[in-house]
Amino acid sequence: MNTGTLNLIPTAVQDRCGRPLGALRISVTDRCNFRCRYCMPRERYAAGHRFLAGGELLSVSEISRLAGVFVAMGVDRIRITGGEPLLRPDVDGIVAALAGLPLQRLGLSTNGALLGRWAGRLHDVGLNSVNISLDSLDPAVFAAMSASKVPLDAVLGGIAAARAAGIAAVKLNCVVRRGTNDTGILELVELARRDGLTVRFIEYMDVGGSSGWRLDEVVTAQEILERITQVHPAEECAQAPGEVARRYRFLDGGGEFGLITSVSRPFCGGCIRARLSADGRLYTCLFAGAAGLDLRELLRAGAYDEALDRAIAECWQARGDRYSDTRSALTASADRVAMSYIGG
Ligand code: SAM
Ligand code: SF4
Ligand code: SF4
Repeated sequence: MNTGTLNLIPTAVQDRCGRPLGALRISVTDRCNFRCRYCMPRERYAAGHRFLAGGELLSVSEISRLAGVFVAMGVDRIRITGGEPLLRPDVDGIVAALAGLPLQRLGLSTNGALLGRWAGRLHDVGLNSVNISLDSLDPAVFAAMSASKVPLDAVLGGIAAARAAGIAAVKLNCVVRRGTNDTGILELVELARRDGLTVRFIEYMDVGGSSGWRLDEVVTAQEILERITQVHPAEECAQAPGEVARRYRFLDGGGEFGLITSVSRPFCGGCIRARLSADGRLYTCLFAGAAGLDLRELLRAGAYDEALDRAIAECWQARGDRYSDTRSALTASADRVAMSYIGG
C-alpha cells in the first residue's frame, strides 16, 4: 500500500454541470445515541438493525489518506459527521489527522450530547468549527424529537463546553417541523443572541425516504424569516461561494442567523460537496439512490494515490445530481440511502 505523501497537481475536476469538487463530508459512524424521527425513526432503527461492524468502518489512517487525496484534488473544507461522530472513541485521532491538511475549514457536526466530554480535547487537536443540532429548548419537545433519554441539559452543557474550550465557530442547527417545534423558533433566536452564537434553521427534508416526510410539515425559510424579523429586523448578508445557508444580520447588532432552504429554494446549481460514508463509499448527492463508489475496497486492495484520484475524478465527472431542483411528491417517497450512513 502506498502511504507516502501526495504529489498530485490539483485537477480542478468538474462534474457534468460544471460544478467543481470543493467540499467533503466524512461520516465516521452510522450509529447514533438519538433517534430523531426525521433521520433515524425508531421503527427502522430498532434492535434488529444491522449497523456497520468495527472492521467495516474506515480507520483513522484510511480516513486521513482518502482525505489527503480529496484535498489534492481541490477540496478545501471538510466536515466530520455521522451518525453521531462523538460516539467514535478515536474521533480525536480523526480530527488530529485532518487538522494537519491544508484546509480552509475543518468542522464537525454533532447532536451535542457528548460534547461536554470531548470539546476541550477536540479543540486541542485542531477543531475550529462545530455545528450542534438543537431542535428545541422545551425539554418535552426536545425529548420527543430526539427520541432519546439524553436530557436537554446535556446538549446545553455541550454548547457551553465548546465555547469555553475556545472552538472558534460554534453554530446551532435546528430542523423545523410544522406542528412539532416551529413555535420554538424565537426562543432559539433569543438564546443565540444572548450567547453570541449563530443559529441556522433547516427546512425539513425528505432524506432516506423512510421518515414519512410530508411537504405540509415543511416550514419554509421565508416563513421562518418573517417570524424572526417581525421581532428582530434583519438584512441579508452576501453569500460566500459554496455556502449553503443564507445569512442574515440583525439590524441592532445582535449577530447573525442562517436559513437553509433545501426545499423551497434548492441550491443544487452551486453544490460542490461529496460525501464519504462510514464504510468508505463515495456519494455525490445526499439523495443518492444507488450504491456509492467503494473507495475502501480500492484502499484495502493496495491502490496507489493516483488510482484513488482517478476513480474519484471519474465518479465526480459523471455526476449530474440535482435532486432538490427536481423534488416532487413522487421522488420524496422513493427509497434512498440513509442520511445517518451517508453523513448529514
Ligand atoms: N448527529 C449529528 C447531528 O445531529 O448533528 C450529525 C449527523 S446529522 C445526520 C447532520 C444534520 O442533518 C443535523 O443537523 C440534522 O438535524 C440534519 N438532518 C437530519 N435529518 C434531516 C432532515 N430530514 N431534514 C433536514 N435536516 C436533517
Ligand atoms: Fe442522530 Fe443526528 Fe440523525 Fe438525530 S440527526 S438521529 S442526532 S444522526
Ligand atoms: Fe447537492 Fe444533491 Fe443536495 Fe442538490 S440535492 S444540493 S446535488 S446534495
